[in-house]
Amino acid sequence: MSDPRTLDQFDISGRSALVTGAASGIGLAYAECMAEAGAKVTLTDIDVEGVAREAKRLKELGHDVRWAVCDVTDILEVSSVFDEHVAAYGGCDIAFANAGLDVGNGFWSPEDKRNPAGQIDVYEKARWDRSIDINLTGVFHTVREAARVMKRNEGRTGRRGGSIVITSSNAAEVNEAIVGVPYMAAKAGVKHFMRHAAYELAAYGIRVNAIAPGPFVTNIGDGWVKKNPAAKAAWDKLVPVGRMAETYQIKPLALLLASDAGSYMTGAHVMIDGGMQLGPVKPL
Ligand code: NAD
Repeated sequence: MSDPRTLDQFDISGRSALVTGAASGIGLAYAECMAEAGAKVTLTDIDVEGVAREAKRLKELGHDVRWAVCDVTDILEVSSVFDEHVAAYGGCDIAFANAGLDVGNGFWSPEDKRNPAGQIDVYEKARWDRSIDINLTGVFHTVREAARVMKRNEGRTGRRGGSIVITSSNAAEVNEAIVGVPYMAAKAGVKHFMRHAAYELAAYGIRVNAIAPGPFVTNIGDGWVKKNPAAKAAWDKLVPVGRMAETYQIKPLALLLASDAGSYMTGAHVMIDGGMQLGPVKPL
């Protein structure tokens, strides 16, 4: 048999994908990307209005999508949405463990004066717990349930294994003072958890990788940079390539990891950060 052609390796038509945190930002970009590339997609989120609206918009564009409410901190909800996805689409080939948020340390919202400097010695435990619950435990729940249904793929869909893509952050690698401390700890945990999951699931043909974005313009931090042009301009100046990213820029990487184009990639933590990991912008 001859080798597959390069562009054919990106073909995911007929496959199905489930995305958590798909009502907005990076998760919505993943869902759009999967649908544009021909996959059937379940968009899930805690934002009922948002996820219903975006699924309706994608449906009107002719894509085969469905939506469901799912709080990733609740294992039973995560388990149900995967089961419903499999019942609707005959299996699950691709899963994005994306839902996450930054509970902040006071920098995000100037009106949030509780802990303006994000000091560890007064950091509220409830904030810590909330961040870990969503950003770390939520990823565990999603990967756990994705692995459970993907292990059955061979019998159900005739295709072995699957691809799990986790949204990590550049904050898993670098100390980024602007995000909350639990966020950095959670994302670093996500990175290492991903490496073990990739190792363990390789035997089942399930690949697990993480995308580690730098600053993207989304609704994270209550849409702080969207609402505040001065904050956006300040962020742009911090990035070596000179600007924050727009969410469409993550789509090609998502498709690479989700499709057979990434067939030899597993356990990778791929930075897409405009060079932020390299250090602060050098004055000319
Ligand atoms: P966003 O706020 O635009 O989207 C996040 C989505 O997750 C929202 O629709 C929200 O309703 C949903 N969500 C929040 N808590 C949830 C829960 N418990 N269960 C299910 N859904 C939940 O933000 P975004 O920037 O698109 O964030 C997506 C991912 O990207 C997150 O994991 C975030 O940590 C990561 N990330 C973002 C950036 C950035 O600069 N935007 C950088 C690095 C990493």
